Amino acid sequence: MSIIQVEHLKSFFKTDEGIVKAVDDVSFELRENEILALVGESGCGKSVTAQTILGLLKSPPAMIEGSIKYHGQELVGLSNKAYHKLRGKEIGMIFQEPMSAFDPLYTVGDQAAEAVAVHSKLNKPEIRDKIIAMFNKVGIPEAENRYDEYPHQMSGGMLQRMLIALTLACDPKVLIADEPTTALDVTIQAQVLNLMRDLQNEFNTSIIFITHDLGVVAELSDRIHVMYAGKIVEKADVVELFDHPKHPYTKGLLASRLKREMKGQILPFIKGTVPRAFEFPEGCRFHPRCPHAMEICKQKDPDPVAFENGHVCSCWLYLKQNKTDGVESQ
Ligand code: SF4
Repeated sequence: MSIIQVEHLKSFFKTDEGIVKAVDDVSFELRENEILALVGESGCGKSVTAQTILGLLKSPPAMIEGSIKYHGQELVGLSNKAYHKLRGKEIGMIFQEPMSAFDPLYTVGDQAAEAVAVHSKLNKPEIRDKIIAMFNKVGIPEAENRYDEYPHQMSGGMLQRMLIALTLACDPKVLIADEPTTALDVTIQAQVLNLMRDLQNEFNTSIIFITHDLGVVAELSDRIHVMYAGKIVEKADVVELFDHPKHPYTKGLLASRLKREMKGQILPFIKGTVPRAFEFPEGCRFHPRCPHAMEICKQKDPDPVAFENGHVCSCWLYLKQNKTDGVESQ
């Protein structure tokens, strides 16, 4: 059963340099009690998708079209007041930089208490107890003492744990985690990922996990959606995607992962860079970087093709029209 349903979502921005099509006709669902990973390079639209779901984009300059339903309730066009009730309580968010999520002038406990108080009827001592219990749950040592400390007294890993704790203390049904481990060193990354999986199991939270790193989500997620230049180009269960990737971009991402047996060799990489959002190419947006690009790829955007097991890929290599048109490969 889906908890969030996104249909034909567009998030465009009017700028002096042109229209930025940050998210362009994106559709997906988040199912109850699953971890869905949105994966892609920087600038592919993952974070803007999350910010749109959370109603964080100001309109104008943002132009939002399409539909985002949370438990059937339409969020596109929702008032700020209604969003205020929803954010935190129903849909929580964890950002990449835990340090910037906390105000350096207040203790972490006071800030957590303020966030919880907005959405709860608990009194002050009850809120304090709840937050300390959550700090313990996410593995903060001496949680009671830490409650009264300031952000600068914590390591990055500890602050990220606290951010997860205070987000979960509001009992959200959905958690959107935007690159939550990117700013952390590798051992702390692994701890935070394990913690998120454990907490998801315990609280039955549905999670959208945003990352540029396919390796990070291999163990963590149930399904993966790969984004490129504002569009979702491939969707599949995690095992299916790793075993049978279809889109050339996904194959490139998988090939460029660091592997132990490649010691001393040059790491494969996807040539070129993600185009700037106001100058996406016509046709398939990946065509300037794609080793399989054909003439039709430069002219028309491929429709999604559905395979077995819910695997979906948007690429002319799998469209019948490509074969019947007799389009020649380059
Ligand atoms: Fe490559 Fe064409 Fe497929 Fe795009 S549609 S990924 S350019 S083969």
